[in-house]
Amino acid sequence: MNTKIKKYQNNFIAQIINKDFNQNKHLSFHTRFPPEPNGYLHIGHAKSICLNFELSKLYQGKCNLRFDDTNPLKENVQYIQAIQDDIHWLGYKYDNICYTSEYFSQLYQYAKELIKKGLAYVDHLTKEEIREYRGSLTKPGKNSPYRNRTIEENITLFKKMKKGEFSEGEVCLRAKIDMKSASVIMRDPVIYRIIFAEHHQTKNKWCIYPMYDFAHCISDAIEEITHSLCTLEFQENKLLYNWILKNINIKTHPKQYEFSRLNLEFCILSKRKLSILIKKNIITGWDDPRIPTISGLRRKGYTPDAIKKFCKKIGVTKQNHLIEFSMLEHCIRKELNKTAVRTMAVLEPIKVFLYNLDHDHKEIFVVPNHPNNPDLGSHEIVFTNIIYIDRNDFKEQHNKKYKRLTLGKEVRLRHAYVINAEKIEKDREGNITKIICYCDLNTLGKKTKNNTNPSVIHWISEKNAFPAEFRLYDQLFKIQNPEKEVNFLSYINSKSKIIKNGFIEKKIGQNIQETIERKEKRIFFQFERIGYFCIDEIESKKRQLIFNRTVSLRELWNPKNMN
Ligand code: ATP
Ligand code: MG
Repeated sequence: MNTKIKKYQNNFIAQIINKDFNQNKHLSFHTRFPPEPNGYLHIGHAKSICLNFELSKLYQGKCNLRFDDTNPLKENVQYIQAIQDDIHWLGYKYDNICYTSEYFSQLYQYAKELIKKGLAYVDHLTKEEIREYRGSLTKPGKNSPYRNRTIEENITLFKKMKKGEFSEGEVCLRAKIDMKSASVIMRDPVIYRIIFAEHHQTKNKWCIYPMYDFAHCISDAIEEITHSLCTLEFQENKLLYNWILKNINIKTHPKQYEFSRLNLEFCILSKRKLSILIKKNIITGWDDPRIPTISGLRRKGYTPDAIKKFCKKIGVTKQNHLIEFSMLEHCIRKELNKTAVRTMAVLEPIKVFLYNLDHDHKEIFVVPNHPNNPDLGSHEIVFTNIIYIDRNDFKEQHNKKYKRLTLGKEVRLRHAYVINAEKIEKDREGNITKIICYCDLNTLGKKTKNNTNPSVIHWISEKNAFPAEFRLYDQLFKIQNPEKEVNFLSYINSKSKIIKNGFIEKKIGQNIQETIERKEKRIFFQFERIGYFCIDEIESKKRQLIFNRTVSLRELWNPKNMN
């Protein structure tokens, strides 16, 4: 088994499983990924998905997808579909698809079993009173006056709860454990509550719903999960997890292991907070490229491989860290550097007139799609007397640090000639509208006659330009750890999405249109000197192509170097 572990990651959970196998505690491995269908999956879920599915592959075991659907007020079938789509997109196949709601009848019977054993009671205290009676870390709890109801009375009341004879919040079912327990969780936790709401799976069959802690361990046991992996905040709940399974008559007793949650710099991962951002129209939806949901990252141009590499790189431990965003970007940049098609795009065009060329001057250059991978092929670009360059590649005044085009200075056009700016034209507001340049036709693939080697800028011929919109994304939050701020909404970066209208090369534009029409695999681009981009499949219309910037060529917000 040891050699196998190395293939994935030698994390502490893999070591536990390994030991279990060596001691013959288990003959098989079975785990699950248990999302609550109350939002879309995010990169934190991806960490858990990778862990569960990779381990089950490694140990030739199984992994269930279980919808932890015990709160009909927050859940939605739209999320159920999106969660499945995201797991498939990441490249994982679950062995079974389960719903906690499938077990509602069994869960009800187990609750009755606890009542019959004198281990659960119906409480008439209000929510506030329950909280007050519970005490705190420093103050012991006190018993509810309803704690010593007889078993018969509790059974009758629980049945009445099920029949809808109480109103919401009027009563609840609590486990009878120990109000003086050092662990607040063990102070008679609520295990069933009343909610009058239609459930997406069970419709109006139930008006009582089990609480997470009660449903989770039993669902794990029903599915014969061997290792129940969850995040660190559930460490204390393990006491309850084990207490419930010990006190009901159930065959399997899964073991819970906790690992640290992923926290990612500049990001919010809580689904509750993400849905606030959507409701307030700060972002466009669960697939907004500025949030680290799987669908947002996909739309931004991330690939399943890059996300999986990232999850592998961060590892699985019990230490809580804030992971650098640049680490995620490093993973996609590294992949796109190998696979992206190199082409030119002009995001903020300004016209350049090459006055010494005829107006019907036309040359075609064949340029490689990748500098070191000929297998990616090549494409043609057209060179004519009017071209576009990016506005920020020109400055009227020369200064030493500025290595691009300035009046009286020269630059090389990528794959083409050296040009020299001689004159400019401006509009009434003083904006430059035209740059008039001399094009040195002796410089194709050669140095200038003065033997200089000017810097290179990208360009697109006016005749070869295809209009496109470019969306440049920056961090949605201005602070490193917005998750820990109560008023996280005050830290929104108003410049997190900048839209530019410019041009790409015509052939590339036409090709993309065809791939969209044929619903082919999407292509990733490196717009030279600008960044990695991919088409926004959701909003790109036939005439208007929209590109999302996946990642810049170099780190923008974190100067620390990645290896
Ligand atoms: P959220 O706060 O985003 O709603 P959650 O834990 O309530 O998170 P669930 O749908 O209940 O979301 O999570 C499903 C599984 O994914 C759980 O096993 C949970 O531990 C895991 N998970 C959720 N968020 C993270 C995270 N940030 N890092 C690692 N695992 C996570
Ligand atoms: Mg949850």
